[in-house]
Amino acid sequence: MRSLFHTLIYEKSLLRSDNQLFHELQKESFQIKDFDEDGQEWSTTNYPGGFTSYASRNDLFYMSSTFRELEQHIRPCAYEFADSLGYEMNGIELEISDMWVNIMGPGCVHTGHIHPLSFISGTYYVSMPLGASAIRFEDPRLGLQMACPPRREELSDELCSFVSHQPAAGDLVLFESWLRHEVPPHTASEERVSVSFNYHWNHGDEICEEVGQEAE
Ligand code: FE
Repeated sequence: MRSLFHTLIYEKSLLRSDNQLFHELQKESFQIKDFDEDGQEWSTTNYPGGFTSYASRNDLFYMSSTFRELEQHIRPCAYEFADSLGYEMNGIELEISDMWVNIMGPGCVHTGHIHPLSFISGTYYVSMPLGASAIRFEDPRLGLQMACPPRREELSDELCSFVSHQPAAGDLVLFESWLRHEVPPHTASEERVSVSFNYHWNHGDEICEEVGQEAE
């Protein structure tokens, strides 16, 4: 048997509780929740039981030096991931486009979605109390499997239609932005806090200059 068309997920322990930034992120996440009134209003309708700055403050890398520092830790991982995926990254620059905070209370759910207009997306986990929901990835070919029988239980991850990953606080998870994922209802009483983000890519200056010269 050959295995084709891999779907890769990047997982890394990035910043743990022995790092000052870890604690600053925990504190600032709740400060953002307190002052972001637009986000509170949006979350009431669209994120019941939780708070997200997704639709209001999705520029945390720009507005906060704490989140900017987090981005500086994430970026080398995004390059490493892109390289592992086989993309030609020579002359390509990854650029953060969005970064927002999610605070899930009991019962809060994040239904299946992709991250449009992005290349690499991911989440850094700020607080994952005991019983916090995992992130669940969906086989991107699921929509094509209109005539398949059900799968057996107890399969390896590679053959499952849905795969859950249970991160710990301080962990980073990266995936390609087209990969559909969800967070099932959060059942712990303590809040689950995460920072999500998107990267897109640009040609570096060198490539742009070359293309410009050719155009001339
Ligand atoms: Fe997401």
